[in-house]
Amino acid sequence: MYDVIIIGGGPAGLTAGLYTSRARLKSLLIEKGFLGGQVMTTEWIENYPGFEDGISGVELSQKMEKQATKFGLEIMQGSVTGVSLDGKTKKVKLEDGSELEAKSIILATGSNPKPLSIKGEEEFRGRGVSYCATCDAAFFKESDLAVIGGGDSAVEEGIFLTKFAKTVYIVHRRDQLRATKVVQERAFENPKIKMVWDSVPEEIVGDATGVTSLKIKNVKTGEVSELKVQGVFIYIGYNPNIDPVKDIITINESNYAVANENMATSGNGIFAAGDVRAKPLKQIATAVGDGATAAISAEKYIEENF
Ligand code: NAP
Repeated sequence: MYDVIIIGGGPAGLTAGLYTSRARLKSLLIEKGFLGGQVMTTEWIENYPGFEDGISGVELSQKMEKQATKFGLEIMQGSVTGVSLDGKTKKVKLEDGSELEAKSIILATGSNPKPLSIKGEEEFRGRGVSYCATCDAAFFKESDLAVIGGGDSAVEEGIFLTKFAKTVYIVHRRDQLRATKVVQERAFENPKIKMVWDSVPEEIVGDATGVTSLKIKNVKTGEVSELKVQGVFIYIGYNPNIDPVKDIITINESNYAVANENMATSGNGIFAAGDVRAKPLKQIATAVGDGATAAISAEKYIEENF
């Protein structure tokens, strides 16, 4: 039996693994995709402390992996389909039908930005298509940009993008924003923001240099037009990867894991860290903090319960 099974190998999971293995807990991290998670898909990271000139997402992920495994963390490729409780023992089911046992679980499965699923989105991902203004805004100085969505994320991030961009078009499928009123007011007052109402993106167009325009369709008139933009920021919501535990812990109305300041969920001995946890700021810097806290909480839980 493992002391700790960590599900998910992004910054939260790798940090949790670093801490649990240094605590000499028998630790296994299970990752279904590639270690690093969303960080791996970020070309350049300038807001993670310690790398004053920035670092590529790939390199940061590799460094985190090396540091975590140095102290004995086991890493396994696999997809977790469910977690169940057998008394105090947690059973982790894998896609291949096998089952593993642990005294505690750290859920660090992250979340994925909802894709628009339109032509050009995948092709220009990382070359003009972004899901993270905080990460990528600085690459778009004096550019014209489109932000898709009308919720708090789209409008707040649209406002943030005006610090760099020349013009930010907020493309929304209705004629009223979903975002909080005060956030809306700030957007309407911002001279760099242009609202594009009643419009849905149809295609992201580009060439070898990256994105060059966004084709949009007015849902009321049916008219198709083209916005000349160098970047498209997509904020139409997130999907937390909660499925394996959704029946055994409390989740909020948006399907995020609810956890307290010690990262403890409502499931005894089940901790949540990183983007899968309900919290206001989802960044690498906050994910690693969650991972460290979850690891120490798991250690304490094992000491007290086994
Ligand atoms: P959200 O509130 O779900 O908003 C998503 C937006 O994208 C909506 O305006 C929606 O349009 C639009 N949309 C959805 N699917 C679309 C599609 N296929 N094509 C085009 N547009 C589409 O997501 P969010 O803004 O990421 O926020 C998630 C939660 O976090 C919310 O509860 C939000 O309040 C909260 N949040 C809070 C803060 C804050 O308090 N500072 C900051 C960020 C997020 P419709 O409006 O027509 O549905």
